[in-house]
Amino acid sequence: MKWSFTIAKLFGTRVQIHLTFLLLLVFVAAQYYFASGAEAAVRGVFLIISVFFCVLLHEFGHVAAALKYGITTPKITLYPIGGIASLTRIPKKPLQELVVAAAGPAVNLTIALIIVLIRGNVPTIPAEGVLTAGFSIVDALFWVNASLFFFNLIPAFPMDGGRMFRALLGLFLSRGTATHLAVTVGQVIAIAGAIWAMSNGQILLTFIAAFIFLAGKGEETMVDQELLLEGHTAGEAGMSDFKTFHLDDKLNKVIDKILEGDQDVFPVINDLKDCIAAISFNEVIAAIQHYGPDAHVRDAVNSVPEQIPESTPAFDAWQKLARSRMAGAAVVDEAGHLKKWLTNRQFSEFMVVQALAGHKPERSLRAAATEEI
Ligand SMILES: [Zn+2]
Repeated sequence: MKWSFTIAKLFGTRVQIHLTFLLLLVFVAAQYYFASGAEAAVRGVFLIISVFFCVLLHEFGHVAAALKYGITTPKITLYPIGGIASLTRIPKKPLQELVVAAAGPAVNLTIALIIVLIRGNVPTIPAEGVLTAGFSIVDALFWVNASLFFFNLIPAFPMDGGRMFRALLGLFLSRGTATHLAVTVGQVIAIAGAIWAMSNGQILLTFIAAFIFLAGKGEETMVDQELLLEGHTAGEAGMSDFKTFHLDDKLNKVIDKILEGDQDVFPVINDLKDCIAAISFNEVIAAIQHYGPDAHVRDAVNSVPEQIPESTPAFDAWQKLARSRMAGAAVVDEAGHLKKWLTNRQFSEFMVVQALAGHKPERSLRAAATEEI
């Protein structure tokens, strides 16, 4: 089932809405309808849509700043908890990362300031809340944008403030040390926030604090892995001795190979040795359940894996593999023929070897092993 669908394409970026976002609209409409009637429901939905329009402008702030450095953003996804701009890469130069991260909150600050300029003063919130009858949507949007600005400046991942803080530290420290320090500060803030939220009975805020704590760990692991792969190419990281299958091969041949244990995902090739599909244990099982024991490889596969040129930086190749949501990726030569084979397991093993060879700290070994779990 498709969970996100595209509503627009602007400046080369697809704007997608996650299905759960529509559920939020239905929930808000129902809540206000039963509490205050149809008019309040329409207002509620209108306000939520306006809020998300501001979130979208925030994300386009990041997109525009990234584009300045030649980084494209294939998509922005709107979730009930906010938006995510999926940049093709995060700039590694601290100053560039600072500008890209700051561009989002800067949009919210600009909107809030424009509202103040137009009104001539800072709007006050009615005691009954912004959704009561007669509320001004513009006043509400001032507070929404002011909140988005301050919330995103909290120096903790995955908020923009976390990235800005790391970028500022990165002006003086190595990327690894800057990330470690920024993550530690973010986690201290998350723990303090969780303690405050729990003692005040704020369940949602407790969950957000826990999420921020885990996101910090995730960011640290990713940067450690990035450092382990630094200076290596997809050609170096890929497997050179691997088994391939053809579309006409029987699936029990694949099972025999899986049971041998050296490889868990296999490229499927044509007569020209081009990789046209990938096959893994789960696909084999699903096809045998559906078509019976005599099924062929062609019955089990459906999409073409990423074709990654040999000279691609290893970390970029790994991200491409992750984004493709497939179990393997083909490393190809200039003519497009399959040269090496990449899987998550291969990447983990390659990183463990790098960590051991480089006598990196224990943290990087853990980072390397994360994908194995
Ligand atoms: Zn942002």
